[in-house]
Amino acid sequence: MSKNVLVLADIRDGELRNVTLESLAAATRVADGGAVTAAVFGSKGKETVEKLSHHGADKVVLVPNPKLDQYTTDAYFQTFKQVIEKVSPEVILTGHTAVGRDVSPRIAARLGLGLVSDCTEVERKEGKIVFTRPIYAGKAFVKKAVREGTVFATLRPNNIPALEADTSRSAVVEELEVEFAEDSIRTLVKEVVRKASEGVDLSEARVVVSGGRGVKSAEGFQPLEELAGVLGGAVGASRGACDADYCDYSLQIGQTGKVVTPDLYIACGISGAIQHLAGMSNSKVIVAINKDPEANIFNVADYGIVGDLFEVVPMLTEEFKKVLV
Ligand code: FAD
Repeated sequence: MSKNVLVLADIRDGELRNVTLESLAAATRVADGGAVTAAVFGSKGKETVEKLSHHGADKVVLVPNPKLDQYTTDAYFQTFKQVIEKVSPEVILTGHTAVGRDVSPRIAARLGLGLVSDCTEVERKEGKIVFTRPIYAGKAFVKKAVREGTVFATLRPNNIPALEADTSRSAVVEELEVEFAEDSIRTLVKEVVRKASEGVDLSEARVVVSGGRGVKSAEGFQPLEELAGVLGGAVGASRGACDADYCDYSLQIGQTGKVVTPDLYIACGISGAIQHLAGMSNSKVIVAINKDPEANIFNVADYGIVGDLFEVVPMLTEEFKKVLV
């Protein structure tokens, strides 16, 4: 049976995040002939319509109110609720990003919907929509199907491939006016100051080069930054490195940090504590560099290099330069 699916687009600095295109791919799969609608908020939303159509949206609901240019829980909640009431979807999808994680439980609780968060796979099986999500800090996966009613799911970035762009597609666009009562938005965002360095977004990066306490200082991260630069990736860190003040907490990967699933994760001087593994063990290929051959990180690594990271990392950078630069 076909389903109408609504995807909440996630825009950062005026650009659609990849996870929105991945959500559209998942939406097309579960819609099975039903309509895929994308909801886009803010004054720059119009610029994203073409890309949304090319990647699977049949319809785009635009809410161009400039009060939605920066995310606030109240404004997004009120707007999203109105879009849901208008579209009446059977399935709602969004990225498991800061926005998705904040708005989804609120919407689900207020509208009495089932919520399956942090999904790594969505499929149709015998007429049911089945969601896969990690449990026990990524040690196991559980599959869940919702028996009836509308279901809301957040999707972990980098797990479901986006569809190839089909430039012949064009979505039906509808603008929705949403007015906010004067005192209904309790937060005012005056300025956004990004802590992380410019460059590839860590949670969506295809390659992550991460440093731990073994990096030994803030300067020790420099060879890792060079390697990440050559590979077009982002730099991450263990909490050990963040606690030691070698880098900012915005780089922390793990149970209490970011969850990443890149194609390639290179762990440098990281012991492999369970809390760190929770944030990276689902990476497609894991390379560990550690001078302790007994380090736990080697238990999850596809390739292990026992050695001093300050020798190994520059060597890798030079070798990759020969083939990539
Ligand atoms: P260490 O365990 O000290 O390991 C350093 C490693 O570097 C060692 O294996 C050593 O052999 C190696 N090394 C040293 N010098 C070199 C060298 N020159 N070359 C190569 N290797 C070298 N941690 C996280 O990462 N993310 C989280 O989200 C997180 N959340 C937590 C939540 C809770 C509630 C708790 C209690 C802990 C959490 N932790 C988290 C902390 C976690 O338990 C570990 O303490 C932390 O991950 C250790 O960081 P590390 O591997 O960098 O340091």
